[in-house]
Amino acid sequence: MAGPALRVLPLGGLGEIGKNMTVLEIEDRLLIIDCGLRFPTAEMVGIDLVLPDFSYLRGRVDDIEGIVITHGHEDHLGALPWILRDLCSDGSEPPPVFGRPLTTAMARSKLDEHRLRDVDVEDLKPTERTELGPFELELVHMTHSIPDASAVAVTTELGTILVTGDYKFDQTPVDGPPADVNRLAQLGSEGLLLLCGDSTNADRPGFSPSEAVVGPHLEQTFLRCDGRIVVTCFASNIHRVQQVVDAAAALGRKVALLGRSMRKNVNIGRSLGHIDVPQGMLVGPREIDDFPDEKLVIVSTGSQGEPLSALRRMAFSDHPQVELRGGDTVVFAATPVPGNERAVNETIDRLYHIGCDVVTAADAPIHASGHGYAEELKLMLNLTRPRYVMPFHGDFKRLELHGRLAEAVGIEPARIFKGDNGLPLEITARGARFAAAERSGMIFVDGVEIGDVADVALRDRRMLSADGIFIVVVTISEQDGSSVADPEIILRGVPFPDEAHELQGELREAVEASLSRAASENVHETDVIQGMLHDDLAEFVYSRLRRRPLVLPVVVEV
Ligand SMILES: [Zn+2]
Ligand SMILES: [Zn+2]
Repeated sequence: MAGPALRVLPLGGLGEIGKNMTVLEIEDRLLIIDCGLRFPTAEMVGIDLVLPDFSYLRGRVDDIEGIVITHGHEDHLGALPWILRDLCSDGSEPPPVFGRPLTTAMARSKLDEHRLRDVDVEDLKPTERTELGPFELELVHMTHSIPDASAVAVTTELGTILVTGDYKFDQTPVDGPPADVNRLAQLGSEGLLLLCGDSTNADRPGFSPSEAVVGPHLEQTFLRCDGRIVVTCFASNIHRVQQVVDAAAALGRKVALLGRSMRKNVNIGRSLGHIDVPQGMLVGPREIDDFPDEKLVIVSTGSQGEPLSALRRMAFSDHPQVELRGGDTVVFAATPVPGNERAVNETIDRLYHIGCDVVTAADAPIHASGHGYAEELKLMLNLTRPRYVMPFHGDFKRLELHGRLAEAVGIEPARIFKGDNGLPLEITARGARFAAAERSGMIFVDGVEIGDVADVALRDRRMLSADGIFIVVVTISEQDGSSVADPEIILRGVPFPDEAHELQGELREAVEASLSRAASENVHETDVIQGMLHDDLAEFVYSRLRRRPLVLPVVVEV
């Protein structure tokens, strides 16, 4: 008898940057670590979000002991409301969600936006232990580019697993203490079974610079500007926003926050004491024109060139409140996440076109990565001395390089598991091995509950300009809602008309399937049926053509 087996199943985050999600399983009980999303690449036109394929969890919501979130970044937290809403759509009670206060505040705000108010969200303190069925959960304080980041230690009868979350060993963090190396070393001396570590910067030698170096450089950069300053960074990078506020205060400039997520995160950060903005320093977006140019710093979303972000709209002279002009300086206090380079370069080019000056991290050290470099990954390995290692959070190149770092500090190659999404590592008292792959991949979210009407119009325009319009006229029986005639397809501006027309036969099946789904779910209102047809057909067209035309189903009842 091999005894019980512990499974570690990554559903996202391996071989990619984004949508981190891992399922731990022992004796049919599940604990989920992180529930992140990924932003679509430029090719996924019209897709708003990408979620990990969580089919593995369907019908098993009662087996889930809890969901623990390492920190509040979208690639760890963003999929939570979508996945919970789906898993609990049959009325099942949602599992509890755990994290540190900033993380849980951000989780609650997301769940509220999705009207998921009955989810039990619990604050945990680092080192506090929580029993969840066969798992004992403990958070370990780490430093990263957001406060309240933590590693997750999960103890089972087979031993302890440490999932590092995103981390760096910042010796001079701008907020809170350095990472709890003491506890990490203790976990090592108690005998750690498995380390699943952040690989993001495995390719960078040495140690990452401290976040504390950013502030003085921001101030120097600001000093050289005579006009308005627009700083863009991740809305969740509360430390960075704080340093922008400090630099602005030192130079007598007021601060305006642009972008919904920027205002939301600063509010949450202020209420939890992670960000301190002097009284009277904040200026509303509509008051921007009331202040002289040299008295203002605008902090904006859009550092990644996101299509609907405030900076992107300003760059395209399409922002309702702020019009950029010559004399303005735009400071990128963030670097593009791999995959976003094109969108960021395009934004920068538009800014030059308007006449703005642009400062990026290539011009001045105004960005410090939140992820440790190679020597910090080695430090983590040496502190925790794990029996097994599974690199997490990185493309395949970084996972491989992280594996080599583990070898370099003396871990046997046979104990290093370079995994993939959907590939479960099974650990028993005898050893560890990869088991048969489970389903994994991407789920797209397309236009459900995003922003305001203006955002939707913008998205429709973008889709129209890229992939045209795909109108499907469906004729259904008034009596039973079944399809009574072949669906008619009308295409305008679609760059692949032949292929699209060839889909006619399959499309009819897709329409039938969608209608019978509507019938089986007892849906009779035409607009709801139209909505279901839209979702199903958009997915169908994308799966066949890898294109995202605007899909417009028209339901005619006869
Ligand atoms: Zn991450
Ligand atoms: Zn992160």
